[in-house]
Amino acid sequence: MKIVVLPCSFDNYGYLIICEETGEAAVVDPGEYYPISSEIERTGVTLKSIFCTHHHADHIGGLEDLLGEFPGLSVYGYESDKRRIPGMNHSLTDGSKIRVGNIEGQVLHTPGHTTGSICYLLEDVLFTGDTLFGAGCGRLFEGSPNQMYDALNIKIKSLPPRTKVCFGHEYTIQNLKFAGFIEPENEAVSKRLELATVERGEGKLTTPSTLKIECESNPFLRCEEKGVVGSVAEKGLGEALDPTSVFTVLRRLKDSF
Ligand code: ZN
Ligand code: FE
Repeated sequence: MKIVVLPCSFDNYGYLIICEETGEAAVVDPGEYYPISSEIERTGVTLKSIFCTHHHADHIGGLEDLLGEFPGLSVYGYESDKRRIPGMNHSLTDGSKIRVGNIEGQVLHTPGHTTGSICYLLEDVLFTGDTLFGAGCGRLFEGSPNQMYDALNIKIKSLPPRTKVCFGHEYTIQNLKFAGFIEPENEAVSKRLELATVERGEGKLTTPSTLKIECESNPFLRCEEKGVVGSVAEKGLGEALDPTSVFTVLRRLKDSF
């Protein structure tokens, strides 16, 4: 399996998944037509499928033009997004199997950012859209904090730490600044911020990360850690400090950070 990152629009990431044995490929989140179609032409792969993590315009902006260029594409999304994703012809639910050539994968339903948000797991790579970012998570547009907590801290965190995380936006530096505000003594956060700042300065991308890195430096996956709980308590936001409440407060703090 080969993964190519496809920067789209301003700070979106789409991804090309290539099965090197068959030459078949799939695109995760076709945010913009041109960068995707030119990469497909350059690599000479056969585009078979589009995997949508959710229906937002910045993730499907290139979809209709790709459908025009490659008629017969399979377009996947969560079942409830059928009317929100143009051309969607395959409905997925939690645990649905997917494939790209000889590569097999499965779907994790991770509602929170939107009700139909899903992540795609192929081998040891997880495509998270706007559910999990580098050092952060998506805003809660449709789902509840409890749903997003479960998606991140129960479903995603149960995957092996070596799992690579391919996220939907380059927000890592801003997210790490918030992580440092929450956990000023967490060295994993300060070191990651230093590294990300160098990387971005050199024009490099911070995707993919790994679940291990996220568990060490992403406050939204650390709702039970003393430093995070203490910081939430200290910022004067009540005494309900069970992990779900900590998550809820963190997300609210981040919204106005
Ligand atoms: Zn979104
Ligand atoms: Fe987005």
